[in-house]
Amino acid sequence: MKRIYLDYAATTPVHPDVLKAMTPYFSEYFGNASTIYYYGRESKKAVEEAREQFAKLIGADHSEVIFTSGGTESDNHALKGAAFANRHKGNHIITSKIEHHAVLETCHYLEKEGFKVTYLPVDADGIVGLEELKKAITEKTILISIMAANNEIGVLQPIEEIGKIAREKKILFHTDAVQMTGSLPIDVERMNIDLLSVSAHKLYGPKGIGGLFVRKGVKISKYAHGGEQENRRRAGTENVSGIVGFGKACQIAGKNMEKEARRITELRDKFIAGLLKKIPEIKLNGHPEKRLPNNVNVSVKYIEGESMILNLDMEGICASSGSACTSGSLEPSHVLRALGLSHELSHGSVRFTLGRSTTAAELAVVLEKFSEIVVRLRKLSPLYKQ
Ligand code: PLP
Repeated sequence: MKRIYLDYAATTPVHPDVLKAMTPYFSEYFGNASTIYYYGRESKKAVEEAREQFAKLIGADHSEVIFTSGGTESDNHALKGAAFANRHKGNHIITSKIEHHAVLETCHYLEKEGFKVTYLPVDADGIVGLEELKKAITEKTILISIMAANNEIGVLQPIEEIGKIAREKKILFHTDAVQMTGSLPIDVERMNIDLLSVSAHKLYGPKGIGGLFVRKGVKISKYAHGGEQENRRRAGTENVSGIVGFGKACQIAGKNMEKEARRITELRDKFIAGLLKKIPEIKLNGHPEKRLPNNVNVSVKYIEGESMILNLDMEGICASSGSACTSGSLEPSHVLRALGLSHELSHGSVRFTLGRSTTAAELAVVLEKFSEIVVRLRKLSPLYKQ
């Protein structure tokens, strides 16, 4: 069966050119980047080239980026690092209710360590209010962490405006840009971002590698103690092949971004219009325009997200209900609940995320199959009255 993959927000396949770039760094150039002989120098050179490629994609200087094991580590390092290093200035952190668990769980941990955290609400479209943010700031606020784009509903936050507010108040601004990097432009200068998290596997790079931007002059405490790698900012032998793949993925994303964003946005909007027209009592979750080019998240009344996903899978279609990290849990999505959706609609959501290989023909098949599934499942639903 030829499968249709529509879960690019969960992960992406490694780009063939990325794989090609990585391959020699497994066994040909296998040196430890900290050694000073030939093999080590070759590894070090490749790591530094990748650093330039990553920095360029986000408008940073190469000295301002460190490699991590992915988005989760970057978020943990940014939040804990900024909180502990600035404890003498205050103990208040502001974030939002719709952050990824990598941020939310880190905030819960920091609360146990004596920090106070404000979780800002979002409006019905999923957007954080700037007035609410301003009101939440106190003289003890040391960090604002608001994601650039949400992983479940794809909604984009006004990060440039948030960065401006943070800068005026001399508060550090971290953004989790794991979902946005590679699909829309990021400029850490223009956006006044101090700390930014990225993950390679969301932009056609390998899993288990990512990056953290730390603005020059911003002090964050260490996350892992050990060797002196990454300029003494992240201990541990470098994942050279992963870093090379990440750098290459950044370079490819930067080259194709504009054209690809336009192509995917067009496919997305046509797909959304088709769903809303073909399926009665369906709701698009999140702002219709201020969202990632590839994100379609809908709630279908009277049926469970999980049953739709299983039925789609039987038809060879891969989609997700809520985020990949939370599916399997019976709790409704914290993001959809924050939008004010009922328990029932929060449970009845499906996320389709488009990507590099997605075609109009594939989406036409998905539209057809998905509407048949909805009719079938609604017939079985005790809640549905025909
Ligand atoms: N932040 C966001 C917004 C994400 O979507 C994800 C992954 O789904 C992460 C953080 C965690 O990234 P990683 O899988 O690289 O740990």
